[in-house]
Amino acid sequence: MTPRLSLKNITKRYPGIVANDRVTLEVAPGEVLAVLGENGAGKSTMMKIIYGATQPDEGEVRFDGRPLTLESPAQARELGIAMVHQHFALFDTLSVAENVALGLTKRMSIADISAEVVRLGERYGLQVDPHAVVMELSMGERQRVEIIRALMTNPKLLILDEPTSVLTPQAVRKLFVTLHQLADEGVSILFISHKLDEIRELADRCVVLRAGHIVTSVDPKQETEASLARLMIGDEP
Ligand code: ATP
Repeated sequence: MTPRLSLKNITKRYPGIVANDRVTLEVAPGEVLAVLGENGAGKSTMMKIIYGATQPDEGEVRFDGRPLTLESPAQARELGIAMVHQHFALFDTLSVAENVALGLTKRMSIADISAEVVRLGERYGLQVDPHAVVMELSMGERQRVEIIRALMTNPKLLILDEPTSVLTPQAVRKLFVTLHQLADEGVSILFISHKLDEIRELADRCVVLRAGHIVTSVDPKQETEASLARLMIGDEP
């Protein structure tokens, strides 16, 4: 099967540091892949390259088999790569539907967007009132808005940065059901997390980044939290 995403020998340098050093990785359609690594390991850099926020110095990115050179996150969204940030990029004083409108490249009326917010909410367990003002929403609801905004572009790859960091345990449960449903429909999910229990529960596979390198790829369900922690910090027996 053609990988949804493949990175081949991706290198990204900043002054004095190689943030990603020949990173090679494949993500299958419908696969849920966790990226684990200590602070500064290069996780955000890798994600930024994939969603078009920065460009690699070397290496090749392929999406559904085609070479990809992304200039911007907007271009990535148009091609089916959507990002859900850890710190939600929502305007507090605007409604849910107005916030969703701001993320769209095509023009849609607020009435049509509201109907779509309700439809996606029901389909994926992301219920949120399209007319509610964002500042009145819980963190879980705000994240639902972000995910709905991402889903409006029909992504084939959804990237999430520490998606559970501000959620209640109940909201985490709901999020995992949504993400599993998306994966079952063929959407590939790539997420950064430091929460080893959640990686074991959610991910089909986990890659470990250390000092810009991918050092290993494991089935997290076959690992303990302790063994994942050792892989992350490079303290294997
Ligand atoms: P964290 O978990 O702390 O977010 P990370 O694994 O996501 O860390 P990156 O943010 O990708 O790591 O950073 C990798 C390295 O590249 C770090 O040493 C960081 O300081 C450096 N770096 C990242 N972005 C830049 C930048 N724009 N300019 C200079 N150095 C950068």
